[in-house]
Formats: sequence, C-alpha cells, structure tokens
Amino acid sequence: MAKASSKIETQLIHAGEVKPRILGAVCMPIFQSANFEYKGEDKQEALIYMRHNNTPNHDLLHKKLATLENGESALVTASGMAAISAALLAVLSSGDHLLAQNCLYGGTHSFITQDLPQFGISHDFVDGEDVDSWKKKLKPNTKAFYVEGISNPLMEVIHLEAVVKFCKENNLISIIDNTIPTPINFRPLDLGFDLSLHSATKYLNGHSDIVAGACIGKNTLIEKITHMLNHLGGSLDAHTAFLLDRGMKTLALRVRHQNESAMNIARFLEKHPAVSRVNYPGLESHPSHQRAKALFSGFSGMISFELKGGAQAAERFVSALEIPAYAPSLGGVETLITLPAKTSHAGLSQEKRQQLGISEGLIRFSVGIEATVDLIADLEQALKKTSSTLLHSTIQ
Ligand SMILES: *Cc1c(COP(=O)(O)O)cnc(C)c1O
Repeated sequence: MAKASSKIETQLIHAGEVKPRILGAVCMPIFQSANFEYKGEDKQEALIYMRHNNTPNHDLLHKKLATLENGESALVTASGMAAISAALLAVLSSGDHLLAQNCLYGGTHSFITQDLPQFGISHDFVDGEDVDSWKKKLKPNTKAFYVEGISNPLMEVIHLEAVVKFCKENNLISIIDNTIPTPINFRPLDLGFDLSLHSATKYLNGHSDIVAGACIGKNTLIEKITHMLNHLGGSLDAHTAFLLDRGMKTLALRVRHQNESAMNIARFLEKHPAVSRVNYPGLESHPSHQRAKALFSGFSGMISFELKGGAQAAERFVSALEIPAYAPSLGGVETLITLPAKTSHAGLSQEKRQQLGISEGLIRFSVGIEATVDLIADLEQALKKTSSTLLHSTIQ
C-alpha cells in the first residue's frame, strides 16, 4: 500500500490496495456479490453486504479517498446527492439549524430548502464574502455550516479560512463540497474542515459514465454517516466502485491538464472582443483570485463567461461549437457546455438568478482533456460566426 508520505499521484494508484494481490491480479477484481458468508460478526452492520458499503471494492475506495484528503476515514455513496443528503441527515437532527453559503449546487439548495424542513431542520443562507454578517445569522441551535470549495457557475472561492475559524469559535461542524477543486487542487481537511463531500460523478471518476459520491472526515463523523446511509440505502454498487477506482487512477493527470488548459482558454476568452466577462479564479481579474492562489494548487477546469450579445448570442454561440457536447454535468474527459439559466439553475426564478449574478446569457464551460489548441480554434470559429450573425441581424 502507498505510504502516508507518498505523493498524491502514487496514492491514486496504490492507496488501499490489498497485499498480497488476490490471485496475483494487478487490478482489484470486482466482487459482484450482494452478500458474503457469515464469519461470526457480532453486529448487523459488520456483515459484509453490498448495502453496507463494505465489500472489498468499497474498502479499497474508502482507504484511497481518506488517504487523498488526509482524512481518518471515508465513505463512498451511490451519488453526490446521496453523500450530501446522508451527511446532512447524520449531522443534523430535528430542532437544529444549518448555515449555508447562498450559491450552492441546485440539488443541495433544494434539499436544504424543500426537504430538511420536513425533518424539523431550519436553515439560513449567508453571503460567503460578507464574513461579518455570519454572526447575525447564528442561532443557539445552529449546528453546522455548509459551503462549496469553488461555487458554480461563477467560480467564486469564499473566505474558506474564515469559515473554519467561525465554526471552531462557535462549535459548528464545518462541511465543504470539494467536487470542483478535487483533492489535486485542494485538501480541505488540512485547512481544518470537519467534512469534505464529493460528487464523484465529476472529476474523481472523470469519464461521465457513472454517478457516485464520497464523504471524507473523522472516524466518528464517517461512522454516523455510514449508519444513516445504510438505512437510506444509497450505497454504491461494486461494479461502479471498480469503475470509480479505475477513473481515479488518472485524476492527477486529468486535473493538472484541465487546470492548464482552462487557464489558457480563460486568457483567450478574456482577450476576445466578443466576450464581455470571464469568471475563472486563475485570472487576475477574478474577485477570488488572490484567495484561490493562496489556498489551491490549481484553479480547476471550470470557466464561465458572457458574450457582448447576451442570451441571444450565447444560444447561437453554443450551437456553432463543434467539439463540446451541450450537456449538463462537468469534470469529464470531454468538454461540456451549458447555459446555467436553462439547465443547472433553471429551477431558480430569474430575479433569484439575477441576485446571485447568474445572467440569462451566462455560459458554463467544463474543459475536458482534448488538445487546448483544438478547443481554442473551435471557440474562435464559433465566436466569429456568432458575432457575424449578430452584426447581420442588426443591419437588417
Ligand atoms: C453534480 C454535483 C453534485 C451532485 O452530485 P450527483 O453525483 O449528481 O448526485 C453536488 N455538488 C456539486 C458541486 C456538483 O457539481
């Protein structure tokens, strides 16, 4: 197994591996068995059973994920939302209050606003940038603070060190969704977060072919979440666990390429006359740049931007592109493009979107691992087409 001192590239390949290798197999075989023989286990949860997330394929991932983010333990789940919902339900009880960053992944936002109240759990959203305002929202029953490492779709990095400090001072559990930064760019437990969550559907797996999730943190917290997940039933299938492990082996190569490619694409877009605004934390012009530079070792493969022609131009531009798929989700090897107002954030009213700074024409771009020059050439031809049709329609 990889030593604790190994670099992340080595951990991605070797952490959690079983020695001696099973029948000499270089790759971990898939244990496609729902149940396993009774070996004298004295607790129900100790029985090896696929819903208990404790087959050899799960164990390997738990050890690997914990190693990658320096956590005591980890838990894989059937999706990112299974990780988020099980974690929140494990940490919060009826009568508790949650503080959360105001711009969250849509599913998380809906779970907090629509489902948690049914369990007697209340919440308040806070402006992640306005540190002084947090205290005003704090209640005697506030139990946890939930944030995201890089927010979607504006790619903001809030004052994460202040979140940790605030939670320690007020005895709150600090929870972060680290899906977009990934452990390659950021390890939140090192900064003092209690719990790191992932949609492993995105960068961790990286091939847009499974859904999965993960929770990483202290033993006591992961035990509580495991207990909840065992009852909710959002466990990962062994074959999917195998695919996730296979995907994760190339995480460092993919994410470092995506960091670099996105940086070059963001610089190209920022200079282009048809583009009015680019949101990428790697750009000096981004409001979170200094903070992201201090906390992260890369700025991710996610960019969002606006065109001078607004929503109309955005739609023309998206259909003029040849390489990216117009599809939701992110973090795969293929470049994806979406209009958040039409997809990920369509559930919010236009006013709410405006309040959060998500314009109707905002374009979100998840950079894959294609050649950067090809992506830039495609963007260039689509921008050219878009501005010439716009010019044409103005003349008419
Ligand atoms: C996609 C996503 C989720 C939800 O994950 P699923 O795997 O789709 O359940 C949660 N958080 C972030 C930041 C995401 O991008």
